[in-house]
Amino acid sequence: MKRLKYILAFLIIIIAILTIWGCEHINFPVLDETKCIGCGDCMSVCRYDAIHFENGKPVIDIEKCTGCGECTDICPTGALVMP
Ligand code: SF4
Ligand code: SF4
Repeated sequence: MKRLKYILAFLIIIIAILTIWGCEHINFPVLDETKCIGCGDCMSVCRYDAIHFENGKPVIDIEKCTGCGECTDICPTGALVMP
């Protein structure tokens, strides 16, 4: 029984480390404002509601962004890219 507790504790620690590591390694889209035409396609395609507009340009909410890359794929001018 004691051994089982150690194994469970070990697994929980491993899962926590992997979760933290994974969160820190998400790539977020980066905007080149000089290429953005303000079409809004990126905001429309984002399934996580992670893009809103300020002064006609998209802003990424990194708390919501999963790094899926759909906004960079759809951007017609290449203004949004994954670093
Ligand atoms: S899809 Fe590209 S060009 Fe259109 S608003 Fe988003 S970043 Fe700008
Ligand atoms: S990478 Fe995915 S989740 Fe993040 S802003 Fe773009 S579409 Fe939304």
